[in-house]
Amino acid sequence: MALTIVQHPLAAHVLTHLRDQTTKPALFRTLCHQVTLLLALEATRDLATEEKAIETPLERTTGRILAKPLVVVPILRAGLGMVEPFLDLFPDVSVGYIGLERNHATAIAHSYYCKLPPVAGRRVLIIDPMLATGGSAVQALDVVKAAGAKDLALVCIVAAPQGVALVEQQHPDVPVYLGALDRDLNARKYILPGLGDFGDRLYGT
Ligand code: URA
Repeated sequence: MALTIVQHPLAAHVLTHLRDQTTKPALFRTLCHQVTLLLALEATRDLATEEKAIETPLERTTGRILAKPLVVVPILRAGLGMVEPFLDLFPDVSVGYIGLERNHATAIAHSYYCKLPPVAGRRVLIIDPMLATGGSAVQALDVVKAAGAKDLALVCIVAAPQGVALVEQQHPDVPVYLGALDRDLNARKYILPGLGDFGDRLYGT
């Protein structure tokens, strides 16, 4: 499996403030936006382009444009915080949704919602800020593969080694893009050092 951890100094800076427990939801959302922009650029570095002839004000020339529409699929609810930066960079992106809720006692996710645009023949990015056990990511990848997606990637802000290992075991063909790879999971399956519950910090719940 191809694993890419964004190396930009701005990513490190933003992650440090995201992790800080004194960071309030408004700033947390801004930081989430910033780090996701960096991740989105990294995860789309190899998108196919095609030639396009244009007229500049001075002469005719050829440039390149994106060849295929992009699809992003946030895992609800925390993944919603990562959608807007993708829309900023790729205004024509199609957005699907997969609702997976983690049972806080068992840490096992169950699906309560799924709405996908056409995915066959398109690059599909599953976005979920926290890759903890990997259970939700594996389920989401199962769902989009079953819908016909073949060109897939997983984009997360923080991951635990256990989550990366499970995705690698179940979906070795799917590249993973991370802001940070953390140390471990605690007994309640939260990432360490992590940043706490991403959805709660995003929405102040
Ligand atoms: N989800 C979160 O929001 N935080 C974690 O640490 C793990 C899963």
